[in-house]
Amino acid sequence: MDSKMFSSPGQKILRDMLSIPTAPFAEHLVVEYVERFCAKHESLKLTCDSVGNMLIHLRQGRRKIARPVCVTAHLDHPGFVAHRMLSAKRLQAFWRGGVPKEYFVGSRVRFWVDKTWVRGRVRSIKTVVSRGQRRAETASVEVPREIPAGSIGMWDLPEPKVRNGRVYARSCDDMAGAAAILSCINKLVRARHSCDAYFLLTRAEEVGFAGAIAATRLRTIPQRCFVVAMDTSSELPHARMGAGPILRVGDKTSAFTHATTAHCHHVAGLLAKKNRSFKHQRKLMDGGTCEASAYGALGFEATGVCLALGNYHNVDKKRKRIAPEYIDLNDFDNVVAWFVALARAEHPYTGRDENLLTLIREVELKNKRLLRTSRRQPR
Ligand SMILES: [Zn+2]
Repeated sequence: MDSKMFSSPGQKILRDMLSIPTAPFAEHLVVEYVERFCAKHESLKLTCDSVGNMLIHLRQGRRKIARPVCVTAHLDHPGFVAHRMLSAKRLQAFWRGGVPKEYFVGSRVRFWVDKTWVRGRVRSIKTVVSRGQRRAETASVEVPREIPAGSIGMWDLPEPKVRNGRVYARSCDDMAGAAAILSCINKLVRARHSCDAYFLLTRAEEVGFAGAIAATRLRTIPQRCFVVAMDTSSELPHARMGAGPILRVGDKTSAFTHATTAHCHHVAGLLAKKNRSFKHQRKLMDGGTCEASAYGALGFEATGVCLALGNYHNVDKKRKRIAPEYIDLNDFDNVVAWFVALARAEHPYTGRDENLLTLIREVELKNKRLLRTSRRQPR
């Protein structure tokens, strides 16, 4: 691992989190990392709901923001969880997450046992049909020793590294999101910026937003918040890696709350004026569905922000094999800066896009007279 390339404190958090084993319904090691992080900072208030989603509240300075942001990310990545030994050197493991079934047999995997990785190879899978597609459900894995039930399994890919400004790792989706949140908090705390913001880390997103849905049912997110769901999303021809983090106007399933998207866009615009290196994009990312759709459907004003991702879910389609996911390191730094600005901004919430209305009023005023007078007499 070239740790020199992860230079800033935020990038070190990214490297740390990308190294932690995680899988849907087996996020406990990431949870422990977040707990240790929160314990270091007195000003953070960490609460966990009854299903283990983590809510962090940071309020500094005197100002209470009427409508604070709640930035969310998820703690899992598609992966295996050991179930039982079928024989001395054959493990049956659950598979959870969206990876096409063709990529399993023959692929190398690793299980986290007693603080070390034990490597193995998938020999066969059992599939089921769910939501119209045949998907892997369990895998039979050849292993050199007994793997205790509950051990986390991931694809056997190298430790995180930076190459040509890109970060290659097993689990950018969504450790990059979770790390962006902790990096943002770290910056706010160190600079003692006046702010009032919530951050939610959810469990089991990869099986269908299980944690996020529970968080809305359990009222984990304060009702006065608007939600910004942070994720990574397959790079698209119109949404390129390195061109800045992407404000999503919607996903494959729904369009997000316009006033909330507009607020995030406005905050990014102000940031770009102050900081010339800040870049961002505003796009429809319809490659998949993200948690913002669930938050929106379940009653929150919600939008999404993502980083363009290569080898989504570790699938290298060109070479037809399992490979590290990758993101652009500048995109990561820029999304952290964006979250810092959002945590400090007042959402001028009226259910309308006030900035767009101001613009409309300006052009209306400019053209009003000519529009009238040219009605019968062209000018
Ligand atoms: Zn995913």
